[in-house]
Amino acid sequence: MSDITKQSLTELVENIENKKLSSTDVTKAFIDRSEKSEKLNAYITNDFTSALDKAKKFDQKPNFDLKLPGIPMAVKDLFCTKNIKTTAGSKILNNFIPTYESTVTENIWNEGAILLGKLNCDEFAMGSSNETSFFGNVQSPIDKNLVPGGSSGGSASAVAGQLTPVTIGTDTGGSIRQPASFTGIVGLKPTYGSCSRYGIVAFASSLDQAGPMAQNVKDCALLHEVISSYDPKDSTSIDFKRNHYSKELTNNIKGKKIGIPKEYRVDGMPKEIEDLWQKGIQYIKDCGAETIDISLPNTSYALPTYYIVAPAEASSNLARYDGVKYGFRAKGENLIDMYERTRSEGFGAEVQRRIMIGTYVLSSGYYDAYYLKAQKVRKLIKNDFDEAYKKVDAILTPSTPSSAFKIGEKTNDPVSMYLNDIFTVPVNLAGLPGISIPAGHDSKGYPLGLQIIGKAFDEQNILNIAYAMEEKINFKNKITDWWIK
Ligand code: GLN
Repeated sequence: MSDITKQSLTELVENIENKKLSSTDVTKAFIDRSEKSEKLNAYITNDFTSALDKAKKFDQKPNFDLKLPGIPMAVKDLFCTKNIKTTAGSKILNNFIPTYESTVTENIWNEGAILLGKLNCDEFAMGSSNETSFFGNVQSPIDKNLVPGGSSGGSASAVAGQLTPVTIGTDTGGSIRQPASFTGIVGLKPTYGSCSRYGIVAFASSLDQAGPMAQNVKDCALLHEVISSYDPKDSTSIDFKRNHYSKELTNNIKGKKIGIPKEYRVDGMPKEIEDLWQKGIQYIKDCGAETIDISLPNTSYALPTYYIVAPAEASSNLARYDGVKYGFRAKGENLIDMYERTRSEGFGAEVQRRIMIGTYVLSSGYYDAYYLKAQKVRKLIKNDFDEAYKKVDAILTPSTPSSAFKIGEKTNDPVSMYLNDIFTVPVNLAGLPGISIPAGHDSKGYPLGLQIIGKAFDEQNILNIAYAMEEKINFKNKITDWWIK
């Protein structure tokens, strides 16, 4: 069968189940393409040899009751994988081989999937362009001058470039949805507490969530169904009744009320984004749903709040990298000198910037003025959504204020880089689910995404809305294969 790598996850599962394809055929096809993808720099570590072995073993004793029978899959290098190097894109974890597996990846392997390798990401998931990785930047399969977005940039490039049928990323302030939007794929940030954080290298613990990235909404629903589970090993994991998201997927969204928040019409937003949003509103109406103007008055405070809360938590989480227990260690004159050298040589500039901001806002003199204030504003942002959801079932916004930018364009201007997350961070601060779907192209032919934000635990609803819109939008990604060796 030709063009295996062009097939969706759903098609691959069907073809394996019907014995039209073996796991070995599929795994080989994705390895072949991945091997030609060096220029994208999407992989940090590959596990191709053992992936092929596992595929052969699966074919000898197939189990078609599994949800991902013999499906190869690469994952973001932020998920701990037992006995396989896990770097979080950092020099400080360059030699770290976990002795345990993250719960979400464990869920994936338990359903029959096979690890292809670990995908590049911004260092400790801090970034919006995948330019902060110790292992070099990732390029977009759309155009060689473009960033794929971040921090799950390797994941986005790998799905858009068909190096893996689907993948998982993590989203602390937009790191699944923004790269999905930049590369023309679908990305879901689940409700906080839906997917276990156990075994995920921590960035900002009250915001981090793992989620699926895929070519289409149905694949995204299927993968979400696999990774979302209650996990006693994560104290913030929530035990609620989870849906069979892919089976219950429907494009019937008649009568749904979708909110359009006026505060997302930000100053200086390109007309192309406004036009895309208007088109989105029309698609919603074409699906038989209704749009209602709403207000989320505290939206403009979301970004400053995020850039206090996230660095504060990061500075605390990253205190564990001291050169003693694991990871990189620099030589020092004495213990303190060793700590200092390890951390200044082991962390990159962006991570050091976040640690300094974080320790500053947590310091005794400034705690009330910054950190405590930010926590209060976070609550106001959450209240805005609660108020809106008295009137609407979901909210539609653009995913990002622009299409993908050029490599190097924002590296010397962190604030302009941070501004890229303006539409995604409020969702993390409020703990809500949000999905980005590809919805059009800008004048240069680069993909643009729309975001649907849901009520807590209402993933099924936003997946359904995304599914209905996807059918109307009929998006075709413009992948040129410029990078094929
Ligand atoms: N770009 C944001 C940041 O740098 C979000 C990152 C993320 O979601 N992991 O903090």
